[in-house]
Amino acid sequence: MGALDGKTALVTGASRGIGRAIAERLAADGAVVAVHYHRGVTAAHEVVTGIRERGGVAFGVRAELGVPGDVDTLLAGFDTAITEYDPRGGLDILVNNAAIGTSDDLAGLTPAGFDTLFAVNVKAPMFLVQQALSRLRDGGRIVNISSGVTRIALPDIIGYAATKGAVEAFSHNLAKQLGPRGITVNAVSPGIVETDVNPWLADPERARWAADFSAFGRVGQPDDIADVVAFVVGDDARWVTGQVLDATGGSAL
Ligand code: NDP
Repeated sequence: MGALDGKTALVTGASRGIGRAIAERLAADGAVVAVHYHRGVTAAHEVVTGIRERGGVAFGVRAELGVPGDVDTLLAGFDTAITEYDPRGGLDILVNNAAIGTSDDLAGLTPAGFDTLFAVNVKAPMFLVQQALSRLRDGGRIVNISSGVTRIALPDIIGYAATKGAVEAFSHNLAKQLGPRGITVNAVSPGIVETDVNPWLADPERARWAADFSAFGRVGQPDDIADVVAFVVGDDARWVTGQVLDATGGSAL
């Protein structure tokens, strides 16, 4: 019996990287998992197929985030698909993981780039939560993936860092509102994780630098983050809300 048997989870940006690892972990723990994706049709299909081959239950939901109608598209796809797996419909766990990054310092940031960053990283998760709340059962979980850059200053990605600051403030305030329903809202902050957003890790010298950034002397892996999320969405974390869980492997201590 899995810790998440009977639960339904929606993980945004689950076709790759950290989101994929989260989707796979939650499915392994027994949740029915909606694997959200945008461009990665084949990748998302592989995630869903892999989960099913291991005895789990998953389905894909496609939607571009950060554009008008994004949340409506996502939730319409979710609502249509979920009834095939759970006649109750509804949701227990929402993981806002999808995000984009840029490598702009303050001088390089443009108003258009700023708007895109905030549309995908802040506006989409906020309005997804707003619209998903009617589907979220009491005792549910919302996890917003933030970043260690809210604690560790990296001015070369200042716009991205600002979006994650907004995500953390959003999580903190929402936790207060949803507490009476037994719903927890937390942010999980990864450090440097080996995913597509960090292709520079292929350079051994830079990979060594990244490893040394962590107290453990290695670069984070998507599973390192997924395991923290698995704790936060489980019953053992029922008394933890409004928090930012640092999952940076002790970076820049
Ligand atoms: P990846 O770039 O590997 O994956 C991003 C995922 O988000 C993909 O599934 C992608 O879907 C989806 N996505 C991106 N933009 C959109 C969009 N506009 N609409 C819909 N889906 C979108 O990211 P990571 O796994 O590295 O990062 C996951 C989370 O972790 C993010 O919130 C990131 O900010 C955070 N983080 C990552 C760190 C790292 O070092 N990797 C460090 C700190 C935080 P598709 O490919 O299907 O289009």
